[in-house]
Amino acid sequence: MCPQNSEAEVINENMEAVEGTEIVYEQDDNILVCDGLVKIYKTDEVEVLALQGLELEIKRGELVAIIGKSGSGKSTLLNMIGGLEKPTAGRLYVDGTDLYAMPEKGLVEYRRKCVGFVWQNSGQNLFPYFTALQNVEAPLYFDRMSQKERREKAMSLLKMIGIDHKADSYPAQMSGGEQQRVAIAVALAHDPKILLADEPTGAVDSKTSNMIQDIFRKINEEIGITIIIVTHDLSLANKVSRVIMISDGKISTEKIMKEKYRLQLDNLTTESLAEVESHEEYSILDKARRVQISQDALDMAGIDSNKVRVEVKDGKIIISK
Ligand code: ADP
Ligand code: MG
Repeated sequence: MCPQNSEAEVINENMEAVEGTEIVYEQDDNILVCDGLVKIYKTDEVEVLALQGLELEIKRGELVAIIGKSGSGKSTLLNMIGGLEKPTAGRLYVDGTDLYAMPEKGLVEYRRKCVGFVWQNSGQNLFPYFTALQNVEAPLYFDRMSQKERREKAMSLLKMIGIDHKADSYPAQMSGGEQQRVAIAVALAHDPKILLADEPTGAVDSKTSNMIQDIFRKINEEIGITIIIVTHDLSLANKVSRVIMISDGKISTEKIMKEKYRLQLDNLTTESLAEVESHEEYSILDKARRVQISQDALDMAGIDSNKVRVEVKDGKIIISK
């Protein structure tokens, strides 16, 4: 893919479109397909199954939150999407290209041009001895650009994120939230097609977290970039149209934001957000026709053994003791 093979031209056309004012993505077009992803980490004594045949499709231009407890496989999945972690089995397609079937050179190019990363720890995102502006300029040194163009582009990104007043500040002179906003500008500098964020609000207070969520929503709407955020923070779900729950290295349920809620999102405060029912929840039916049922649902139905009755009544499937 980007830009190693015949699809490179298509991708580059899209990348250029990102710089324009308006982009029209084909909405039914998947940018990402995870097909039975497995990751096994082997250490001397144990094998850890971090991803267990994970299936997932993400459309171009979507803003998605993948939420799960610590150890559920979020970072493994995100790093895999970012071209940093080879799956033990399964395939990962970005824009129709089998990412890990590419030669290493293609993967390096993919990481450099197609994905942007925002990490939880802002120290990982920013050079401490560079100002905010210099940090955003840094990824652009590889591009054929004049110093003036580089500066203008970096400044416009800082403006879009609303942090241009800190352009000449060093990371140590900024708050955690400000550093994360600069980190988002850095991650966007090379016009990636996908923005990946690993616990981006993990180290900030709830007000700042809310502001960072608004920024993700804004850039998703303004430049149409696909954004995938992984987090254990359930509150992030309130502002994202598609919420995917991950547990034990598999997608368990999905929540889709109700249209009515989405329309009033801008007028809701943090407090009232929690009170409105925002999403409809769906369980995932995988390729082997399996559905994961939450422990809560099993408890409520009084199911405590490993054998259940499945019957179809009035066009509905009923699972009972
Ligand atoms: P999360 O980001 O949801 O907390 P991770 O993807 O980091 O989860 O980890 C999933 C599982 O894989 C955990 O059990 C973790 O301990 C294990 N794991 C992650 N990375 C490694 C590694 N490099 N070596 C061994 N085990 C790992
Ligand atoms: Mg993690």
